[in-house]
Amino acid sequence: MRTQVGIIGAGPAGLMLANLLQRRGIEAVVIESRSRKEIEETIRAGVLEQMTVDLLNETGAGERMMKTAMFHQGIEIRFGGKRHRIDMHKLTGGKHIAIYPQHEVIKDLIDVRLQSGGRIVFNVSGVRLSNIDTEAPVITYQTENGDTEELTCDFIAGCDGFHGPSRQSIPKEIRKEYEKEYPYGWLGILAEAPPSSSELVYAHHEDGFALVSTRTPEIQR
Ligand SMILES: Cc1cc2nc3c(=O)[nH]c(=O)nc-3n(C[C@H](O)[C@H](O)[C@H](O)COP(=O)(O)OP(=O)(O)OC[C@H]3O[C@@H](n4cnc5c(N)ncnc54)[C@H](O)[C@@H]3O)c2cc1C
Repeated sequence: MRTQVGIIGAGPAGLMLANLLQRRGIEAVVIESRSRKEIEETIRAGVLEQMTVDLLNETGAGERMMKTAMFHQGIEIRFGGKRHRIDMHKLTGGKHIAIYPQHEVIKDLIDVRLQSGGRIVFNVSGVRLSNIDTEAPVITYQTENGDTEELTCDFIAGCDGFHGPSRQSIPKEIRKEYEKEYPYGWLGILAEAPPSSSELVYAHHEDGFALVSTRTPEIQR
């Protein structure tokens, strides 16, 4: 099989890239190791920055988000025992912080891709990259039926995250990695309680930092 761009990983990066390429008439195939159900149900991010909201709207994937997301106009920063509200909406000429779960973004991007005739191959395994220093790099993978497929591409986009095979396929001599390790960790606490604030709160205290976030909305497809 041949395509212009072989995209490994159907996360927000891979799906959005496929969407952008399709809008410019560039053919791509997305391959994903998990099932559609699984990626549509994995809970991760909830906060979308304005530029992400704009991009989803510009590329036709923002309709459900605009109907169902919660839009915050500001945030609160707490330090030195005081509360400071930053009115983002006013200060930026009307921009928002959107609260819309990442798995809903995934559903919207998949819908746009499939409705426009784009291809996503779910449930692949054994993904391997080869010939990556040539004009025709190849992705080899097993389909869910156990068949081995070879996808010859003009370009490969490795959107498979830190643990995926793309990063490791780049020879060490030319691979550049940018990493910052912080000397602390995050502890997430999920509490079934009325919201303590209608907007996000970022609090600094001598004992540490806390981010207080409200529940993301329940959304029907
Ligand atoms: C708890 C949590 C909260 C977060 N909150 C926020 C937030 O509020 N706002 C925000 O902007 N960001 C947030 N993030 C970060 C955000 O989730 C990531 O930046 C985002 O998921 C990265 O997208 P991606 O497409 O690059 O990678 P991923 O979402 O990791 O997608 C990679 C895809 O590649 C697939 N894959 C992996 N290996 C293979 C393989 N061998 N073959 C084929 N496919 C493969 C994976 O199954 C996956 O679907 C949060 C993350 C977490 C974990």
